Amino acid sequence: MATDVQTPKIKLANGAEMPQVGLGMWKMDNATCADVIYRAIKDGYRLFDGACDYGNEKEGGEGVARAIKDGLVKRSELFIISKLWNSFHDPEQVEPIVRKQLADWDVDYFDLYYIHFPVSLKYVDPKVRYPPGWYFDDAGTKVEHGKASLQSTWEAMEALIPAGLAKNIGVSNYTGALLLDLFTYAKTKPAVVQVEHHPYLLQQSLLDLCKSHGIAVTGYSSFGPQSFRDCDMDLAQSIELLFDHAVITTIANRHRKTAAQVLLRWSTQRGIAVIPKSNTQDRLLENLDVTSFDLSEEEIKQISGLDRGFRFNNPLNYGIPVYNFA
Ligand code: NAD
Repeated sequence: MATDVQTPKIKLANGAEMPQVGLGMWKMDNATCADVIYRAIKDGYRLFDGACDYGNEKEGGEGVARAIKDGLVKRSELFIISKLWNSFHDPEQVEPIVRKQLADWDVDYFDLYYIHFPVSLKYVDPKVRYPPGWYFDDAGTKVEHGKASLQSTWEAMEALIPAGLAKNIGVSNYTGALLLDLFTYAKTKPAVVQVEHHPYLLQQSLLDLCKSHGIAVTGYSSFGPQSFRDCDMDLAQSIELLFDHAVITTIANRHRKTAAQVLLRWSTQRGIAVIPKSNTQDRLLENLDVTSFDLSEEEIKQISGLDRGFRFNNPLNYGIPVYNFA
């Protein structure tokens, strides 16, 4: 059953509106992805956060195509997001790979297209391996950095807008210093910055910087360690799940909401867009229904007090020797 939740929209710098709650696609199974996307559209989701690296854009496109064919939604009502993988940072590779990703999704444009990481890796031909991942070789032993500067990549990203391939462009996993550098050369500033954000990693100064430049922020991995326990990451195993933390469960009980809903409401009340990932219908519905109740300022402060500066999504935590957060 579709929810009657009215998802708020965040106004981007060019006036476009981005739903504040959407569905993340990292680790979404290829076998079920199309059905999950279709189901999510039926249940009221309009924003999908995909990426080359997630390896499921074709399946995402199948779900979207089926929903459009069945008259559930029009393309113009959806907000489809993708990301440029590190192996395609050379400016001459940007447009061709965007065209391939659009073909995979079977759409003409992305509503938002990000640089996934501020890291250039040596080009891997999609015919050789796709998605290429972090390693240059098939055996996964060698990381080879590329030679593209972030300025040259951003200029190629800017060209996607007049070419009609992306309505908005953004960056992900950037630090403040990289954004300040980008501001010195960007003709178009990022519409959205996507970063890891949860009570164990508040990122307050980065959020303040974005706000002062009129840039919207999307927080990923809103549930903190949960997503990284799925990857067997040591750091995530050793830290108490936010779902079990007394501060969160006490507030959840008070509002008769789940811990997940409290975590998403905390983010959305901080003005941040969220893209929780789930495959199951109950949780899809639960995660969409996160803007119809309000936490008090005191509760928001208590949750923010859990900040520990824990960053899970650092390549080094997966044993990948890439030092972008050094
Ligand atoms: P998440 O915080 O959304 O957590 C997902 C985990 O929580 C899964 O184990 C899921 O089963 C569980 N879960 C979902 N809903 C739940 C509920 N209501 N109750 C209990 N458990 C629930 O983690 P994520 O997938 O890492 O992040 C969300 C999205 O952000 C990704 O799918 C992806 O689109 C994006 N992302 C981007 C980057 C980046 O580098 N830009 C990195 C990580 C994630």
